[in-house]
Amino acid sequence: MLTMYKIHHPNADIDRLYMYVKRKGGGRGLVQIEAAHKAEIINAAEYLNTNYKEAQFVNIVKSHESTQPNMNLIIKTAAKITEELRKQNEKSDAKQDGIQQTKAILGESLKKKWKNKVMHGQYITNIDRQLISEEDTFLWLSNRDLKAETESEIVAAQDQALQTKYYVTKLLNTETDIKCRLCQQFDETIDHIISACPILAKEQYTKRHDRVCAQLHFNICNET
Ligand SMILES: [Zn+2]
Repeated sequence: MLTMYKIHHPNADIDRLYMYVKRKGGGRGLVQIEAAHKAEIINAAEYLNTNYKEAQFVNIVKSHESTQPNMNLIIKTAAKITEELRKQNEKSDAKQDGIQQTKAILGESLKKKWKNKVMHGQYITNIDRQLISEEDTFLWLSNRDLKAETESEIVAAQDQALQTKYYVTKLLNTETDIKCRLCQQFDETIDHIISACPILAKEQYTKRHDRVCAQLHFNICNET
C-alpha cells in the first residue's frame, strides 16, 4: 500500500520504514506489525505477571495459562521473544526493564539488519563511522516538512536503491554495463551522480552550489 501511494520507494529499505528505527535515527516512524506484535505480547505478559487480586478476568487468564502447559501461551511466548532478543543483542536485561527496553532492542535489531544489507546499509554505515553527523543528517526527517513522495525518493537515494547502472548491474543483474551514462568513466553509483561525475561538475554542481549559497545568504540576511 505504501508503495502504491509512493510513500515508500519500491527499492528502498523496508526495515528503515518502521518506528523502532526512530525518525531522528533515519527511520521513517511507522509501526512494524511484527515488532508491534512482539512488544504487545511482552506488554500483556507483564500485565499478567503483576498481581491484581481484584481483577477477576486477569485471574481467569492466569489460571488458564498455568493449567494449559502445551498451548502457545502469552507468558511463554513473551519469554521466548525476550530470549530471542537477548540472544540477538547480547543484552540480558530486557525482561527486567520491560517494554521500553524491548522496543529499544527491537529498534537496534532492525537497524542492524538495515546496516548489514550491503547497498541499503552503506549510508548508515558511513554515519556510524562518523563520516557524517547523525543528528544533523536526519534533521529533515524529524522536521517533517517534505512531501511523503519527496521524502521517499531521498530515502531511496540514501539506501542506494535508485535505478543507477550500478544497481541494475550488481543488484538486479539485468545489465552488464556499469559505467556512468554521462562520463562513461566511473561506476554509476548514487555518490558518483551526486558529487563525483566530471560531466555534471562542469555545470550542474556549480548551479547547485550557487543555489544553496543563495538560500544561505537569504537566511543570514533574515537573521540579522
Ligand atoms: Zn559520470
